[in-house]
Amino acid sequence: MTILDGKKVSTELLNELKLKIDKLDKKLGLAIIWVGNNEASNIYIKNKLKRCEELGVIGKLYHLEENATEDEVINLIESLNNNDEINGIILQSPVPDHIDIIKCFNKIKPSKDIDGFSNISMGNLVLGKPSHISCTPKGIMKLLDYYHIDLDGKNVCLINRSLIVGKPLFNLLIRRNATVTMCHSHTYNLSEHTKNADIVISAVGKPKFITKEMIKFGAVVIDVGISRVDGKVVGDVDYDNVLDQVSYITPVPGGVGPMTVAMIFENLLEKID
Ligand code: NAP
Repeated sequence: MTILDGKKVSTELLNELKLKIDKLDKKLGLAIIWVGNNEASNIYIKNKLKRCEELGVIGKLYHLEENATEDEVINLIESLNNNDEINGIILQSPVPDHIDIIKCFNKIKPSKDIDGFSNISMGNLVLGKPSHISCTPKGIMKLLDYYHIDLDGKNVCLINRSLIVGKPLFNLLIRRNATVTMCHSHTYNLSEHTKNADIVISAVGKPKFITKEMIKFGAVVIDVGISRVDGKVVGDVDYDNVLDQVSYITPVPGGVGPMTVAMIFENLLEKID
């Protein structure tokens, strides 16, 4: 059994990215828009800004009040679209309920849409055209590739259909000739699908959701979920109990999470028209 060490792989990737960033004539700028005071967002944003500092990227936080209007968010996005010092814009999810996040994502111009959540970025991804690809799915693909995990013709059970994880990841896997079954909360007999899979990717957000009985012997397990149990960060997988059932597995923390952050900076360096 091999642990898919996202921390190690992302550190290597970030070191390579730093060498490229150091060679640029002009510093890169990353704008992060945070609306409200979601506690988890606070942690994620601090982490992203810390990475900016380490890589020599100018990270700028635009923190709006919980009661900021949709127009205020859109006006800010539009001014950042026109700001030459800013190469990428992240609108941190979630936003308060009165703001239509998809509408806001669509205001970010594609070249600065580092998260790849806009209709144009997502459409280009589906069509296989150049686009910024959402960081978590892209990070998962990088991790699989790093460990030479073959996807061609493999059965992949993907448990998630969100814009952030499932939809982009489905397309990336299909592009690499995997046979993908996309499951969600209305799927009947989930374990029949997981047991048939060479690779199980779970992004549900429920601790111990994936048990040993649900996994075929020798399968690859990618755990995207993040939950907190007694103050500790855990994934979806009953990790200790599945270890002797799998060939490869991502730990939580230290698996998909660090890869996601590294992909932000890979996307920031990428030129998309
Ligand atoms: P989400 O939109 O809530 O998606 C959860 C998915 O799980 C949905 O597709 C949902 O189905 C499905 N689901 C829920 N209960 C299920 C059940 N009993 N059986 C089968 N499927 C079920 O959340 P998200 O934003 O995609 O994030 C998912 C998880 O990944 C969260 O824990 C999040 O914190 C984590 N995450 C981690 C990273 C990282 O970098 N490590 C990045 C992004 C997200 P429906 O569509 O039918 O509701």
